[in-house]
Amino acid sequence: MEYDMPLFRPPSEARSLIFQVTLGCSWNRCMFCAMYKTKSFLVRPFEEVERDVVEMSWRYPDTRKIFLADGDPLAAPSDYLIKVLDLMNRRFPALERISSYAGPTNLKGKTVDELKEFKARKLDVLYLGIETGNDRLLKKIKKGATARQIIEVSRKAIDAGLRMSTFIILGLGGVDGSYDHAKDSARVANAIDPHFLATLTLMLGPYEKVYEQEMMGDGFRLIDKKQTLQELRWFVEDLDVTDCKFGSEHASNYLPISGTLPREKDGILRLIDTALADMSSKMLRPDWARGL
Ligand code: SF4
Repeated sequence: MEYDMPLFRPPSEARSLIFQVTLGCSWNRCMFCAMYKTKSFLVRPFEEVERDVVEMSWRYPDTRKIFLADGDPLAAPSDYLIKVLDLMNRRFPALERISSYAGPTNLKGKTVDELKEFKARKLDVLYLGIETGNDRLLKKIKKGATARQIIEVSRKAIDAGLRMSTFIILGLGGVDGSYDHAKDSARVANAIDPHFLATLTLMLGPYEKVYEQEMMGDGFRLIDKKQTLQELRWFVEDLDVTDCKFGSEHASNYLPISGTLPREKDGILRLIDTALADMSSKMLRPDWARGL
């Protein structure tokens, strides 16, 4: 099997066998995301996916976890997805779970019954970027959905029995939008009540100036390290979720923390406060190590 590069997966899918059932992202317009800018969206012909699955089932017959790529496999028609999931279940007898990226623009087109059909075929975890819960910012970054729509599609998936792994991106709102971004994102996360919640930190590299001046405009200024921690503090202090694994271990973050909410919320807040009080703390990842 050959991958159509570039290929992305969440850190937690490091041990999963990846199949590209679609290529690229059907939306591909989010301002901060360059992941699939080199690809045109395509649902791969079933015969091609079948060839990959059969080949890998000979090589890795004991596969327990599968991740569907690229950016939004759920943009594929439901009958096609059911055929692909059935095939995977047939070829990998030890299969325990399948996971996939999902986006609000494609989840919108799936009914609860369709999602239940996927769940019955071991599709279990959907990774969805909330990015921000602030509508003004969602519009500006061209996410293609409002906060309310993101809540609705996520709740629909949870109602169908799927587990949602969601994340927000610290720094998206810049200096002036930082507080609202944090508070609105917590509000949306609470309404979704996901099983997993993570933060990423905006990293633009050579595109910082382009993002600041040409894309966001209106005097937009990116936040610095301390403001990023403050934003994380504002976000976490408002979280009110039922049973959620929270993490900021992603390599883009300054402060790697993890814990279960609500049980470990106080401890997580204490760690953030400790780091905020000493910006030279060894707990903080140096800039050169971010993104590695
Ligand atoms: S939906 Fe996801 S993969 Fe597609 S452009 Fe937006 S952030 Fe990137």
